[in-house]
Amino acid sequence: MTASVPLRPEVVATERAPKPAGPNRLVGLDRAELAELLVTIGEDPKRARMRANQLWHWIYHRGAQSFDTMSSLAKDLRARLEETSIIGRPDVSRALKSFDGTRKWLLKMTDGEEVESVHIPEEDRGTLCVSSQVGCTLTCRFCHTGTMKLVRNLSAAEIVGQLMVARDTLGEWPSPPGERQLSNIVMMGMGEPLYNFENVAKALRIVMDNEGISISRRRITLSTAGVVPMMARCGEELGVNLAVSLHAVTDDIRDVIVPINKKYPIAELMAACRSYPGATNARRITFEYVMLKGVNDSPADARGLVRLIRGIPAKVNLIPFNAWPGAPYECPTDQAIQAFSDIVFNAGYSSPVRTPRGRDIMAACGQLKSDSVRKTRAERLAAEAAARA
Ligand code: SAH
Repeated sequence: MTASVPLRPEVVATERAPKPAGPNRLVGLDRAELAELLVTIGEDPKRARMRANQLWHWIYHRGAQSFDTMSSLAKDLRARLEETSIIGRPDVSRALKSFDGTRKWLLKMTDGEEVESVHIPEEDRGTLCVSSQVGCTLTCRFCHTGTMKLVRNLSAAEIVGQLMVARDTLGEWPSPPGERQLSNIVMMGMGEPLYNFENVAKALRIVMDNEGISISRRRITLSTAGVVPMMARCGEELGVNLAVSLHAVTDDIRDVIVPINKKYPIAELMAACRSYPGATNARRITFEYVMLKGVNDSPADARGLVRLIRGIPAKVNLIPFNAWPGAPYECPTDQAIQAFSDIVFNAGYSSPVRTPRGRDIMAACGQLKSDSVRKTRAERLAAEAAARA
């Protein structure tokens, strides 16, 4: 098979989010930046650190929505914050809830760009699927986000903002110590997180801080299509769980469906997985494998997959292809998916088939955003009313 999908230039993805005019926005700032900001608005530099810690507590632990609730801060400091700054969550353009409890938010950034995040409640956890870019440069052939035009990196503020909005809706400020509705994060929304590593890393450090949002690295999974040179840093600096969008076991096929493979082929990707810092039997690498009828779903593919991952602490996540209008692929039959799963399972690997969630609210990657671009407001309202009925 020839590789027919050209890679879009990566340089478009390195553009930074525009710095919004207007007041300072606090969400997304780390402790040092909060302290610096406090000095610029007149706080005594000797007290700035302590004040920054208090502000941190209000923003990231209590989820304060206004400065006047921050009762441990002096009144005049609250007034100065009010004059110069906003807490700065993203605006919610649309919020949908599925019959199965899945929620989806379309969030509007200060430049008008929109991204999605999805919350998936399960029995023992609740996972937020977070976006790292507006659009994506990778053009994976089965992925709807790859067909979108606009691409820019999200700032750390815009990434943390997705968590803040979800916790607002779920009513988890301060976050309960025991069972949480938002207990886990997967960086599996729109975009390639390892093409926006600095901002993703900054955002995750804020999220992991145990005096704030406090989600442990063990409950965070970063999913990459295989940006090989960034994988070791991700493990060393963040220590989060790794998921790899493998999707094919030969370069011929992977070149076509995951075009970044032309740059970092399977052998290099597997070598990076073998040396991923922190991968152990207790913390296995997840290999994601989207099932595409007649493309990558044969028993021979399943055996090839087992050969590839041999020796790596691994589990396999089989994802039935989620079709979108005009998609060039179909989902295999349940039997074909089950047969594939059995081969991987019998070789000693966990191989669950992911159940589709939130189908009625277009929860699959990129679908709500492109729907928003396509539909008129009236059509949207009608569709939402139908979904609620
Ligand atoms: N760029 C990263 C993260 C975003 S994609 C990555 O590639 O891993 C998150 C996951 O959703 C990936 O495994 C991706 O391959 C999968 N995915 C995208 N579109 C899909 C579709 N239409 N059906 C099923 N899975 C899809």
